[in-house]
Amino acid sequence: MSDLKQFRSETRDWLEANCPPNMRMPMKSAADACWGGRNWTFQSEDQKLWLERMAAKGWTAPSWPKEYGGAGLSRAEAKVLQQEMDNIGARSPLHSFGIWMLGPALLKFGSDEQKLRYLPEICRGEIRWCQGYSEPAAGSDLAALATKCEDKGDHFLVNGQKIWTSYADKADWIFCLVRTDSSGKKQEGVSFLLFDMETPGVSTKPIIMISGRSPFCETFFVDVKVPKENLVGERDKGWTITKYLLTHEREMIGEQGGGKSLSQIIEERGITPSPILQAKIAEFEIDSWAFAQTMARMLQEAKAGASLGARSSMLKYYGTELNKRRYELLMDAGGTDALEWESARSNDGALARDWLRTKGNSIEGGTSEIQLNIISKHILQLPGA
Ligand SMILES: Cc1cc2nc3c(=O)[nH]c(=O)nc-3n(C[C@H](O)[C@H](O)[C@H](O)COP(=O)(O)OP(=O)(O)OC[C@H]3O[C@@H](n4cnc5c(N)ncnc54)[C@H](O)[C@@H]3O)c2cc1C
Repeated sequence: MSDLKQFRSETRDWLEANCPPNMRMPMKSAADACWGGRNWTFQSEDQKLWLERMAAKGWTAPSWPKEYGGAGLSRAEAKVLQQEMDNIGARSPLHSFGIWMLGPALLKFGSDEQKLRYLPEICRGEIRWCQGYSEPAAGSDLAALATKCEDKGDHFLVNGQKIWTSYADKADWIFCLVRTDSSGKKQEGVSFLLFDMETPGVSTKPIIMISGRSPFCETFFVDVKVPKENLVGERDKGWTITKYLLTHEREMIGEQGGGKSLSQIIEERGITPSPILQAKIAEFEIDSWAFAQTMARMLQEAKAGASLGARSSMLKYYGTELNKRRYELLMDAGGTDALEWESARSNDGALARDWLRTKGNSIEGGTSEIQLNIISKHILQLPGA
């Protein structure tokens, strides 16, 4: 038996023995996703057990090095693990900006102390992070950010405001872009800081979205003292880290374009679509399959050492547009019932709320227009406007 076949067989056995039956059920609502962190209330004993077992195996971040809480799996092994989890419908044990975004940046740019301090906690789901990038006057033009960070000798002093900070009111820590120098080009003088959301002077104010939910906030900093060892990389040189983290964020958001077959979901809901809708679903499935192949190819290339770089914008752009199409079709298939907003029958309007939430997919992590700009400039090499 090849090593990979052996790994598959052992993984299948382990999952069979360790994944609680409840954690193999499809998530009924966003609340079923486990985000961990010091304020997390587990939805059930099984949710807790599943996280603990997967973390102990290093399988919440399977390809990270073992010394930082991962399992040191190769990409091929990590893929097998994911396939075997998909086969039994196992839920992801942990949703985490730490795993999806900050971790890869710390692995590349963090000091040894920072890696040992934060990465194992992230893998165990003990620390929940939010992302302090956007500001009221710095979204697409992120480098215009103005949150001020002054060097006060033995600490940094941070003053300013972030906006659209997802889960800022629930997060334990923030990875935050701050301005440490305003004298040169705006990309210069940006620094990448980590701090505890309970530090005096940090406050949040939730913003309600069109879906009626409130997953993000305005975040304010008034004279926030941050220890100097919380700076990642060099002072004023945080822009490289910023961009690197964004490629991971975009890949992660783009992955939403994949997932379970749409016709299967519609069939499970007991719906028989009209012939016109069936044709649209078939078209979607073909595009979705082509996207999955493109994603697999790019990840293979990344394995061979070619960094995703600007190509993460292709995944982000197409994946989010696909996800929006998927939900439009689900709404079409559901007919007027799909618009139900509050009844128990509609699970508190879960589908309608999820559909509205997808509208944000092509804004978060950089808008579709910005991704198209990046693709035209860095991939198609078209002349700038
Ligand atoms: C659901 C959601 C979650 C988010 N979570 C976070 C988070 O956790 N942390 C965080 O920091 N931010 C977060 N954001 C913010 C997100 O990154 C910004 O909304 C995004 O970068 C766009 O910035 P903006 O809203 O300021 O829009 P603007 O930059 O003001 O853009 C407005 C419009 O102008 C277009 N535009 C702007 N510049 C150009 C250009 N050069 N060429 C063509 N078109 C252009 C844009 O595409 C857009 O349509 C989140 C946003 C959403 C929707």
